[in-house]
Amino acid sequence: MSKKCINCGASTSTKENECEYCGSPQYLSLAHKSSFFSDEIKDTIFQNLQNEDKNDLDDKLSLIVLYLLYDLESEVENLFNELSIKYPKSGRLLFMKAVKDLKLTGVDNASPSEIKNITSKFNLALSFDDEIAAEVKAVLLIIQQRYYEYNSINIPEKFIAIINNLINIEIPEDCLAFEIFKDI
Ligand SMILES: [Zn+2]
Repeated sequence: MSKKCINCGASTSTKENECEYCGSPQYLSLAHKSSFFSDEIKDTIFQNLQNEDKNDLDDKLSLIVLYLLYDLESEVENLFNELSIKYPKSGRLLFMKAVKDLKLTGVDNASPSEIKNITSKFNLALSFDDEIAAEVKAVLLIIQQRYYEYNSINIPEKFIAIINNLINIEIPEDCLAFEIFKDI
């Protein structure tokens, strides 16, 4: 299906490929390298996606990633409600909703049961869609380092099992997930 590049507007063939003109990925994943997304490019994509009224789920989720990058997570509640009705089995949607909850709570402020709850949502989301494995792993690493290790809390076996299942999944050192959680 032909689609316009979310950054430069060129006609792109598929959303799996990067735009052949500007090199932009055609959706924003938390596992994408943040080095490509300068403030200017983020703003352009944000404008383009907000102005597009026939957005599909990937576009909406890309927009949600940008809201989280801009610390506007509380403003996407309605969007999530709307999308959950339309796409009840989307693993990525489920995952992003849990990421939004984690950001709203704050990794540091979360209680063990909140962390457990969010982790099991990640696991459920993975069972719907294994293409989100790299994104899930990136956020699990943030929880592992900034919650369990930082607070010297024993890491639950279930958490270790999920992360061990993703041992071969590679994530870039500078991915968007780290940018979203950089200050908390
Ligand atoms: Zn482009």
